[in-house]
Amino acid sequence: MQQNNTSKRLDKLFTISNKPIIIAGPCSIENRLQLETAVEALCNDRRVKMIRCGVWKPRTHPGGFEGLGEAALEWIAEAKERHADLLFCCEVAKPEHVETCLRHRLDAVWIGARTSVNPFLVGELASALQGSSIAVMVKNPITPDIELWSGAIERLRNASIDDIAAIHRGFSTYNNYSYRNNPLWDIPIELKRRMPELPIICDPSHIGGRRDLVESLSQTALDLHLDGLMIECHPDPDNALTDSRQQITPNELFSILDNLKIRSHEESVPDELLLLRQQLDIIDSELLKLLSHRMDISKKIGELKKDNNMPIFQPLRWQQVLERQIATGKTLGLDEQFVDELSKRIHSESLRMQE
Ligand code: PEP
Ligand code: MN
Repeated sequence: MQQNNTSKRLDKLFTISNKPIIIAGPCSIENRLQLETAVEALCNDRRVKMIRCGVWKPRTHPGGFEGLGEAALEWIAEAKERHADLLFCCEVAKPEHVETCLRHRLDAVWIGARTSVNPFLVGELASALQGSSIAVMVKNPITPDIELWSGAIERLRNASIDDIAAIHRGFSTYNNYSYRNNPLWDIPIELKRRMPELPIICDPSHIGGRRDLVESLSQTALDLHLDGLMIECHPDPDNALTDSRQQITPNELFSILDNLKIRSHEESVPDELLLLRQQLDIIDSELLKLLSHRMDISKKIGELKKDNNMPIFQPLRWQQVLERQIATGKTLGLDEQFVDELSKRIHSESLRMQE
């Protein structure tokens, strides 16, 4: 992986020109030596621009390691003095955390997935951050709700925070077999469509939950043109106090970064795929034209129903239409449930037009 080489601090930390921004570091700071060892190793690779390190840890169950709080921030401040060209960030979940981070001059903070889900908490954090120039990252909420995610970003923007990035860390669902958190890639892609200026950083460590998935998830993120990676790195992952299964060593990180390919938009799409996509685009637009034509006819039918005092919804006719559609779909090799859902959606829109 090659990168635009910009090591100096930019006015705005999250600028898309500086991509992919690589953030790496331990899930949690466990002691001074562990932090120092991680930073000393990670600073050997100029591709690593920012060190992540958890100071307050949100734990699902009580009794686990909950982070060392302010003591750990003192060690970050020391590391910052030794490494002027490295940036440091940690998670904040309460206004007091923000105040402590500002006092210790952290370069960035992130709002975690269990916090971004709560508009009250995001509002409180936005107020605590207001007036500072610290960069802020917003992890997606644990639920697959793009409105909550974009709403959190809007709350920060409303508090005049303008150096913002989103972090995609996957979504909690019941029975996640393949991933710790389901990536549901269409959600970050939709966020990018809605907020094109907003850098989106992928966190493959929390998506996969397993170190062997970090590389392929990172490649997918780059292929989807996300703007950076946040990867959990620990000097001794097997003995990490939190998230040990997903953390990798700094050397493993460097070899993953060597293997990753940054493909341009054109390069990532073979010619044949481009041609097939062009065909799909044409078909999609034909489908919309046909639907619009169908709605025009449907409106005329609606007027005739009114003129003849007939109810808009005609259950018998609808049953025949649905049966015919499913039968035709079968002959065309289309899935029955898909045809059923599609027909019902078109029908309900048609009724809405006739109303
Ligand atoms: C973390 O980054 O260590 C963390 C707790 O992440 P998330 O909020 O994505 O679970
Ligand atoms: Mn973690």
